[in-house]
Amino acid sequence: MEQLEQAILEIKKTLPGMTLLENEPMSEHSSFRIGGPVRALAVPGDVTSVSRICHILKEHKLAPMLVGNCTNILFPDEGLPELFLISTEKLQKLFLLPDGAIYAEAGVSLSKLASFAQANGLAGLEFASGIPGTVGGGLRMNAGAYGGEMKDVVESVVYYYLPEQTLYEIPKDNCKFAYRSSVFQTAAGFAILSAVFRLPEGNRDEIAAKMRELNERRRDKQPLDLPSAGSAFKRPEGHYAAALIDEAGLKGFAVGGAQVSEKHAGFVVNKGGATSHDVHELMMQVRRIVHEKFQVALEPEIILLPPDYKLEDNGPAIRLNHVTVTDMSGMTDRET
Ligand SMILES: Cc1cc2nc3c(=O)[nH]c(=O)nc-3n(C[C@H](O)[C@H](O)[C@H](O)COP(=O)(O)OP(=O)(O)OC[C@H]3O[C@@H](n4cnc5c(N)ncnc54)[C@H](O)[C@@H]3O)c2cc1C
Repeated sequence: MEQLEQAILEIKKTLPGMTLLENEPMSEHSSFRIGGPVRALAVPGDVTSVSRICHILKEHKLAPMLVGNCTNILFPDEGLPELFLISTEKLQKLFLLPDGAIYAEAGVSLSKLASFAQANGLAGLEFASGIPGTVGGGLRMNAGAYGGEMKDVVESVVYYYLPEQTLYEIPKDNCKFAYRSSVFQTAAGFAILSAVFRLPEGNRDEIAAKMRELNERRRDKQPLDLPSAGSAFKRPEGHYAAALIDEAGLKGFAVGGAQVSEKHAGFVVNKGGATSHDVHELMMQVRRIVHEKFQVALEPEIILLPPDYKLEDNGPAIRLNHVTVTDMSGMTDRET
């Protein structure tokens, strides 16, 4: 704690003009509209400042957690007084490289990236135009929809690796992309700064029409009028989480202000005033009932913070899809 306070003072001195929100309630930032305060939320204006913050935190044996649009995270009501977040909100560089590939910084939204590709007659990012996250969050999660995934379109990723305090550029083959997973989830300390996307040429009108069609499908099927963090559970092998939850009769099932969406059983929505405890409890009940009925273990797709939070239930052991990012003392070497 003392280390964190010292690091914050040093960061303020080193980057005096930077926005640094202290004890910031995450309900203001998360798409779920849930979450108490984190100790600090820094909004650096460029990638060099991200590296400088990481460097100072590392000197104090700490690591930050990078966030994009917070559309896949559930922050706890009681807050995280030891967490230092870095938002990529201001990392917005987006341009065409001389060889026709797209360069995008981590904070660029996936919808903006998809529109930029369309405007330049480049196809393949249509699937991403309705995903409300950023390039950084999308790459870490290998976000996908309607048959497309980030792994299909990215060529290389630049990241700052905290343990070595070094910038790396790695080709997509080293990113270990898999269903909603990447190398950036396997260890703490990856700060994705930018990426290059290589796409085939396409017809602008056809690309725009495809984007419109997919976004209409999304509006028809998903509860976009209510706060959520997207699909609550990953797709279990051989099944669809939403279909299992629906068949278990759980559409509309609620705990406090959290509810299994009546429109799409794969979504947990905040009907108003939901707490993180409501969401945890609801997800736990859904897992238990689905397991009892179908012997299928649902794994959360939403990142449940704090990372060591355990869902205490009688179902199968749960593996949280997040690694701790505040204590670097036991960190192992980079795998890439
Ligand atoms: C209505 C709705 C619909 C959705 N639909 C889809 C969908 O169709 N497909 C899909 O895959 N997802 C979907 N999602 C979930 C979410 O939008 C995606 O997972 C998205 O990629 C998350 O991006 P983000 O910027 O919001 O990341 P955040 O939620 O901010 O962060 C997610 C994770 O990535 C990490 N992270 C973020 N930025 C960086 C960075 N620069 N460097 C290192 N780590 C970083 C964070 O630490 C966190 O662990 C949906 C969510 C909502 C609310």
